[in-house]
Amino acid sequence: MLGRQDVAQWGRASEICSAHCKSLEMFCEDHQDVCCSVCVAVNHRQCSSVRHIPEISKGFQEKPEYKRLPDMIADIISKLDCVKRYEQEHRKEVQDAGTKIRDEIRSLRVEINKLLDDIEKTTLNQLEDYEADIVTEVNDNIQKIIPAHESVANFNEMLLSEKSEKSSFILYYQCQREKNVAECLLQEISSKPDKLFSFQSDINDFRKLISERKMFGTFENRRCLGVKLCGLPKGELLIVDVSIQKLKLLDTKYQLVAHENLGPARPYNVCHIADYEVAVVIVNANNDKSEVHLYTVTSRAIRKTRRFPVQHRVIAISHYQGKLYVVSSNNTKSTINLHTMNGDLVTKIYEEPCCLRSIAISNDGNFVYVVRWEAGDLITLDSNGNKISTFCDPQLKSPSGVHASESGHVFVCYYSSNTVLQLDRERKRKLAVVARKVDGVDSPVSLWFSLRTSSLIVGQDRRLLVLKLV
Ligand SMILES: [Zn+2]
Ligand SMILES: [Zn+2]
Repeated sequence: MLGRQDVAQWGRASEICSAHCKSLEMFCEDHQDVCCSVCVAVNHRQCSSVRHIPEISKGFQEKPEYKRLPDMIADIISKLDCVKRYEQEHRKEVQDAGTKIRDEIRSLRVEINKLLDDIEKTTLNQLEDYEADIVTEVNDNIQKIIPAHESVANFNEMLLSEKSEKSSFILYYQCQREKNVAECLLQEISSKPDKLFSFQSDINDFRKLISERKMFGTFENRRCLGVKLCGLPKGELLIVDVSIQKLKLLDTKYQLVAHENLGPARPYNVCHIADYEVAVVIVNANNDKSEVHLYTVTSRAIRKTRRFPVQHRVIAISHYQGKLYVVSSNNTKSTINLHTMNGDLVTKIYEEPCCLRSIAISNDGNFVYVVRWEAGDLITLDSNGNKISTFCDPQLKSPSGVHASESGHVFVCYYSSNTVLQLDRERKRKLAVVARKVDGVDSPVSLWFSLRTSSLIVGQDRRLLVLKLV
């Protein structure tokens, strides 16, 4: 690749073979590549058509493919810009997440230190109490011994100096009295057991637990909550990446051309309204309330046009001719409400205790399909919400997405069973297994069928899957 500073030399450099430093004179039609004489000798010996460039380049500037080159370059530059911005934002998000986790680890450490400090403090306080109790008792003994000792010692001195018989008599009995007092004291002290104390630490379990620990916790990749998607008229895709809180616009080659960061709000689901208008269900990070945001998507941009709040937590959304079918649930029940495009509630069409996961409306508006995750089935309602039929395959678990195509096909994907099915028009029986794990189905959550390319696009936890249906 040439850098920008090399621009002045481009004209010349581009006519020289970078591998062999010889001038590029030949064109291999088999490989669609320009070559020098060495290239031809080494790599294109077997090729059927190697032509002389001066000869075949006559009038090339007038050819439509050459005239399209600036547009093609502009397109790829714009995509590179978009992906560069996306990756720069991505880097920042990764670094922000790192900073947040670093803070968490630090405060975890502070918390543990605080707990250990408290334990240490309580233990030292106990030690003080034990020590003080015994020292007080010992001090008490010493305080009693001192006067007794003094008194007996005094008599000893008097005995040496006093000589009269009378005095000796008195002294003798006084001394006996003091000696008895001293003996009582000695008896009292020696009859008490010596007090001492020791300390037995009982944190071996804790020490073992800590010494066996390598880390405070584990790290895991967060890209595992699913990708919801809807198609746009020319085959572009709007992706709702639930795990990284982003809307992404992919062109018909499934390359990123625009994105919108919604964090800290969590986008939950998306449905196509008409042309380039889509509705996205958002859950606010601060109050956990749901909102429907309407976006207009152009070829290179995603623009929010309006929004309205909805009651309860919205799980899924679908659209038919100016009406939004909003599936919401709380802990005890799921409901399907019909809203106008301004957000006004028209009516509740369905309610049940089971958790509904995904909704789709048939192309004529006569059928409403909903999948029930725990029950493992798909139920079909008429447009008034009356249950018409139930489809259940006991082999298949956790239906996660349902899609009704413009052409009237109904597709269901199963998250735990890694399977995509096509159902017949009555939705009572399986028409075909579209794809299984061997075909690349891996935790599917959403589906979209593109009539233009006859492709079924499967939104999955880790990657998009494009299935060609012929
Ligand atoms: Zn060459
Ligand atoms: Zn060749």
